[in-house]
Amino acid sequence: MICKKETIQREQVIARYLARTLDAGAVEEFEGHYLGCDECFEELRVSERLAADLRASLSPNLSWKQNGGVSILQFRHTAELTQSAKELDQLRREVLEQSDSRVIIDLGRVTKIDSAGLGQLMGCYSHLVRNAGVMKIVNANAEVCRLLDMTGISILLPNYNDEQTALRSFDVTDADTKS
Ligand SMILES: [Zn+2]
Repeated sequence: MICKKETIQREQVIARYLARTLDAGAVEEFEGHYLGCDECFEELRVSERLAADLRASLSPNLSWKQNGGVSILQFRHTAELTQSAKELDQLRREVLEQSDSRVIIDLGRVTKIDSAGLGQLMGCYSHLVRNAGVMKIVNANAEVCRLLDMTGISILLPNYNDEQTALRSFDVTDADTKS
């Protein structure tokens, strides 16, 4: 298929598609188009890679992947979500400054959390809810779970024991909203 889009126009559409700022009609049109268009498909793939690399360089201890429209954030090494930890800043950047709306935060490698860390989690949660998003946490250790319970945060942000269960819970929530 010969693409009728101009290069500049293609770059703009892809940038806005990845930032989720296209309106529903434009998303539908682009998704219907790029799978059959080698040029747009390749450009989209490269843009996605660049965006992922940029995120990795800004947040070296935080990995980011997509699964079925859900962004999953996971620490690469053990991390503390405490007042002076640089991971707090990385988490803020990943959640508050990105346009992802369905986010899972994997706390499996988080060994310690304090009030600053809990505050940051709540900040991420509020940000997503304000933007019609959803946030889930998974793999929190016993100590982190205890603090989440103690502070009442677990009522808003229950911990899921694994990623698959958390991913499935998004679909359940969606089904509830639609019915
Ligand atoms: Zn195209």
